[in-house]
Amino acid sequence: MKNDCIFCAIVAGEIPSFKVYEDDFVLAYLDINPFTKGHVLVIPKTHSTGLLDTDDDALAAVVMRVKKVAAHMKASLPCDGFNILQNNGEAAGQTVKHLHFHIIPRYAGEPLAFESHKGDMSELAALANRLRM
Ligand code: 5GP
Ligand code: ZN
Repeated sequence: MKNDCIFCAIVAGEIPSFKVYEDDFVLAYLDINPFTKGHVLVIPKTHSTGLLDTDDDALAAVVMRVKKVAAHMKASLPCDGFNILQNNGEAAGQTVKHLHFHIIPRYAGEPLAFESHKGDMSELAALANRLRM
């Protein structure tokens, strides 16, 4: 696996993912262990570990796609709101050392928790079909 990086392996197609958006710069796919229904990760295709070692132009491109994907998710899930989460360093809970932005959909009346839940593969597949852009 390239760089020993699981997200680079997803970009390379060596590991499958439930893709919802892709262009020359970024890939967006469902988190395998979602916090809430429809939890998506947006990553740059070029490896960097976090916010601070990412080139400004690459970062700007990713953030613009986070907005684009979030707008689509809000309308097509649909959800009532969403959190953007981006962890840097183990102390901050970063487990995968490839820059990623979480888009965590929120639903009115559901408790505001940051807890992952084991993803159900058939539900993830159905959500990816609904969200694919
Ligand atoms: P972090 O805690 O590093 O900010 O978040 C990493 C996220 O990546 C976690 O929410 C975890 O569920 C997700 N993740 C880890 N491995 C995989 C994988 O192989 N595929 C997908 N789709 N998500 C993954
Ligand atoms: Zn990587």
